[in-house]
Amino acid sequence: MDRVILIRYGELSTKKDNRKFFVRQLENNIKNKLKDIDCTIKSDNSHMYIYFSDDNFKKINNIISNTFGIWEYDICYVCESSEKDIFKTVLNTINDNKFDSFKVETRRSDKNFPLNSVEFSRKLGSFVLKNVANKHVDVHKPDLYVRVEIRHDKSYVYYNSYRGLGGYPVGVQPRSMVMLSGGIDSPVAAYLAMKRGVKIDCVYFEALPHTSLNAREKVITLTRKLCKYTDSIYLHIVPFTAIQEGIYKTSDSDYVITIMRRMMYRIMDELCKKNKALAIINGESVGQVASQTLKSMNVINKVTSTPVIRPVACLDKLEIIDISKKIDTYETSILPYEDCCTVFVPRHPVINPNLDKVLEMEEKFDYNTMIKETIDNIYTMKITEEDNSFADLL
Ligand code: ATP
Ligand code: MG
Repeated sequence: MDRVILIRYGELSTKKDNRKFFVRQLENNIKNKLKDIDCTIKSDNSHMYIYFSDDNFKKINNIISNTFGIWEYDICYVCESSEKDIFKTVLNTINDNKFDSFKVETRRSDKNFPLNSVEFSRKLGSFVLKNVANKHVDVHKPDLYVRVEIRHDKSYVYYNSYRGLGGYPVGVQPRSMVMLSGGIDSPVAAYLAMKRGVKIDCVYFEALPHTSLNAREKVITLTRKLCKYTDSIYLHIVPFTAIQEGIYKTSDSDYVITIMRRMMYRIMDELCKKNKALAIINGESVGQVASQTLKSMNVINKVTSTPVIRPVACLDKLEIIDISKKIDTYETSILPYEDCCTVFVPRHPVINPNLDKVLEMEEKFDYNTMIKETIDNIYTMKITEEDNSFADLL
């Protein structure tokens, strides 16, 4: 049977002047995701239409339900604009839904159709009551809406609307760099940034041999899971061992994390310049750990003037966990592999660092040269949703 998905844009529809640009980006994103599936995509100012055949339904639905920039969508069955064909279509498809009560709503743009919309709804309602067992009509709060749109050429039958992810199509904002640690927070931060239309790269700081290749694999897996919401993602692996060991040797142990994070930000700053990225995104959450008190953030943030976006800054851990479960990163995030932050974490990291002290400690080693060398040795890989070929790295 022929079907069409009818997409409504949502928040995107509030963008007056940029509307065309947003719709084009959404259309490109969807076309890219559906490139191997037989279907036709068309769009106008208020809707996008994807025509496809029954066999591809699951694949397409999975993609549409995970694409940002879609507020709501309907999955319609296409039939001839005749009473007989519309009734037959309803009869063949209505039981794909679980329901006790229903209500028929008809829209008739073909004014030559013999019945008006109220008459048609009534007639179709009686037909359903007669032919589908144990159902009743509820016009106020039905379990199921049976919607019919009668047009001149074809008619559409559809049921309850599906909720999309909302947000903006990925790519309407410029590239930004996500600090991806392998923990719970940063994949959620990446997801929320993409939801606002940001095109992301991910950056992982690793400290081999103090951290394991399992930890790297975990970050690769998380990046792959994030690809579900965009096309491909560049993952930059930063060899951070020398800098971390340098910090460890020269700094007071309670300041190790503060200085380590300043070094991370310095590297992020350079990476942003190199990749023409306009923001740093990370999973910091106010007060979560010593380095994320506002006083710590203040001292740490001083090294960069690039905007730092912290999408989970004001969420509770439990709220972040809920999202990570929803986006299917939680189970990977809780795998127990050491991260470079956890390996070197002191017993009592400072929660109110003193900037002068920090500067004094940083002067004790030539971090500028080390940062340059580190950046020269970054390994970048392109991750896609399907690709499993990172065995050479592990
Ligand atoms: P997460 O916050 O992702 O659960 P975490 O709790 O191990 O992981 P934190 O110590 O809270 O990380 O660090 C705060 C943020 O700093 C992380 O969310 C992440 O964005 C960034 N970060 C920490 N360690 C790394 C790393 N090894 N590589 C890249 N980014 C990192
Ligand atoms: Mg955290």
